[in-house]
Amino acid sequence: MRRAIGVLAAEHIVVGLVEGHRVLGPLVRYPERGRGADVFRSMPAESIGQCLREQIQKVGAGQNVEVIGVGFPGIIRSGVIEESPNLQQVKGLNLVASLASALRHDDQSVPVCVFNDADVTAAGVAATRGQLDRLIRVWTLGNGVGFGRYPWAAGAWEGGHIVVTLDPREHFCGCGGKGHLEGIMGHRAMRLRFLDMEPEEIFENAKAGDARCDAFVKLWHRALAAATATSIHFEGPGDFFITGPNARFVDIGMLHRYVHEMVKMSPLQGSRFETIPVSDEIGIIGAAVNAERAVFGSG
Ligand SMILES: [Zn+2]
Repeated sequence: MRRAIGVLAAEHIVVGLVEGHRVLGPLVRYPERGRGADVFRSMPAESIGQCLREQIQKVGAGQNVEVIGVGFPGIIRSGVIEESPNLQQVKGLNLVASLASALRHDDQSVPVCVFNDADVTAAGVAATRGQLDRLIRVWTLGNGVGFGRYPWAAGAWEGGHIVVTLDPREHFCGCGGKGHLEGIMGHRAMRLRFLDMEPEEIFENAKAGDARCDAFVKLWHRALAAATATSIHFEGPGDFFITGPNARFVDIGMLHRYVHEMVKMSPLQGSRFETIPVSDEIGIIGAAVNAERAVFGSG
């Protein structure tokens, strides 16, 4: 079995050694637990590359690692971060180049592959459930809304920015676009819409019968149903996993009902939703799996 390093670099950095879809040994985190999250936000791009190299070396030194996979938020093409809306300073950063000589194996640099962080979550779900032969889609609900897909496929896949309403007053998306899924579902967008209450309170008040909150909670679920219906109309039905900090607000039954209203053709019926807890391990395993498949093929 091959040994790989999986890296998840979203709000913090977590690195693990992966073999046979399992993490070996303890994960290395930066910063360590309890210290300020969102460590990247104030870090210049070159320091982000350097910091990642150091964590990779801590885990990988002397371990016969054959490939390194990294999950990072944003649009990533050929190892370059083309856009990362919440980390403007990394736009244009060639992460593969800055990590290229992090580790050596058989006197060669160990190859590095970089993927969108939601895509590595999808790959991790597929690998840990023995479903590497299936199409797996993942929604990640946090400040941003991410869409991940396994198997990995070239493309932008900015599912969080699917247009789910034509109402020009819907302008809360972090990217500035109107009518976007993230502009309704994103944590930041909810705080901008409800200046007088936190997202937790919106969902609590809806349960308690507050009409304005109840209408919003329905809109929130309809938006996710609409974006999912779009994905189903493009790629067919299947399993959709929902994760991230705000997956706790999801009412699976309500989501199913709305998707059922929006997808009517019989060959496209039968999708399933499941919420899964946020897990560094799933992302790390997925980053390793995607990198192995990219470098050595799927066999
Ligand atoms: Zn947007």
